[in-house]
Amino acid sequence: MIEIKDLYDIIIVGGGPAGLSAAHSAVENGAESVLVLERDREVGGILQQCIHNGFGLHHFKEELTGPGYAQRCYEMVKDLPQVQILTNTMVLEVRENKSVLAISPDLGTVEIKGKTIILTMGCRERTRGAIRIPGGRPAGIFTAGAAQRMVNIEGYLPGREVVILGSGDIGLIMARRMSLEGCNVSEKKPSSSTKRTPADASPADIDNDWGNGGCRVKAVLEICPFSNGLTRNMVQCLDDFNIPLFLAHTIVDIKGTDRVTGVTVAKVDEKMQPIPGTEFDIPCDTVLLSVGLIPENELSRELGVSLHPLTSGPIVDQHRETDKEGIFAAGNVVHVHDLVDFVSDEAEIAGKYAALTALGKLAPVERRLSVNTGNAVRTCVPQKLNLPSADSVTAGTRLFMRVTKPMKKVKLLVKCGDEVVLSKPLMIAKPSEMIAVEIPADKMKTLNGDITVGIEE
Ligand SMILES: Cc1cc2nc3c(=O)[nH]c(=O)nc-3n(C[C@H](O)[C@H](O)[C@H](O)COP(=O)(O)OP(=O)(O)OC[C@H]3O[C@@H](n4cnc5c(N)ncnc54)[C@H](O)[C@@H]3O)c2cc1C
Repeated sequence: MIEIKDLYDIIIVGGGPAGLSAAHSAVENGAESVLVLERDREVGGILQQCIHNGFGLHHFKEELTGPGYAQRCYEMVKDLPQVQILTNTMVLEVRENKSVLAISPDLGTVEIKGKTIILTMGCRERTRGAIRIPGGRPAGIFTAGAAQRMVNIEGYLPGREVVILGSGDIGLIMARRMSLEGCNVSEKKPSSSTKRTPADASPADIDNDWGNGGCRVKAVLEICPFSNGLTRNMVQCLDDFNIPLFLAHTIVDIKGTDRVTGVTVAKVDEKMQPIPGTEFDIPCDTVLLSVGLIPENELSRELGVSLHPLTSGPIVDQHRETDKEGIFAAGNVVHVHDLVDFVSDEAEIAGKYAALTALGKLAPVERRLSVNTGNAVRTCVPQKLNLPSADSVTAGTRLFMRVTKPMKKVKLLVKCGDEVVLSKPLMIAKPSEMIAVEIPADKMKTLNGDITVGIEE
């Protein structure tokens, strides 16, 4: 028999790494009752299907697999008497009075009340419909994450001759995974010199002489003139497997009636429009789409939380509180992170301040400042600083940002009016790699105007 309390200090919507890290931090900061609601049959979120390693180097100072990282997060809360976890429980609505409407086979539909709520619903993938690829509607077109789940959890191989659209981390990781599953790495050497990087691929690099029953990734296509994945994934997932990467290329046609038989690919111009006459065909039976993630904010939108047009996540302050009082948000639901370690860091902030809010221990806000993006910075989280009096400031604030284009040897400047609050030289800045800088507590005490973060080129 599941017992639901009349009132929780904190209700957390989503039991991924963000939800679990927030729950742990909330208890460490005094919360006495925390409820985590997860719609899946297990907690752990998207990490359960990410069986590769590379997780946890920053947060746990150890290299873990995705499920290993999720397990660590779970172990931190599973025996805490203050934390109750309900799986198979889907939240249908979050209300401004800090109650949620949830449904589960055990409970039916229930309304549960909290003093504060943390939104940690993660994100979902963009699909073919979102990017409008022309062509037929044969079987064999999957999002990369759906294919990852089929291979890593359900034990099915979605296809054998694969073309991947999008060079974000999920696309790169699936390029490696599909190659490993086929155990059939190309013997064919790239046409250019030994110093070749995948980005200078030509159609001659596509290995079409294959037919021994394995699985091969024939090409990764990227519409941008640069890759959108982490450098380590470019090296470990493409270079190591001789998989050609076509930058500034996209699919202009998908062929096939029952099953995909091939794609037509074209080069694109600087406006990302296909250039006539540059088309070539790649025979394949499977297309994987890795064309971006969308923070899962249907609940936030319905609640009336203000969302940022570029991150597609809630606008938050340095405590990760949204513009609805007592409603916090953290993790991929706020902005898409490349490393789960940063997700945990952010969720710990949300957990701490949701706990202090629930306990009525937060100092009143005296200064409301905006964090604006300047030259070559696309997004920055948090977008607001709601600061107490100088005496009550005890912690610095980390700003997480993404730049608009790849740059080398630049300087990141954080300014308050004309005053430079922080300056950080960057050898390399890429849109695919989130940049974090911390405004120290002593600077936070003296901020008296809006902040701008920009790049000096
Ligand atoms: C293919 C892939 C490869 C990756 N590789 C790496 C890597 O190498 N290294 C790295 O550090 N990071 C990597 N990441 C990123 C990392 O997995 C994510 O950053 C992290 O999982 C995000 O955590 P989250 O808790 O915000 O969201 P999620 O993990 O998505 O968790 C959100 C949870 O909320 C639940 N939920 C959503 N809506 C509701 C609702 N209405 N009611 C109840 N529950 C709900 C979902 O079921 C889910 O469990 C990778 C991600 C992917 C997809």
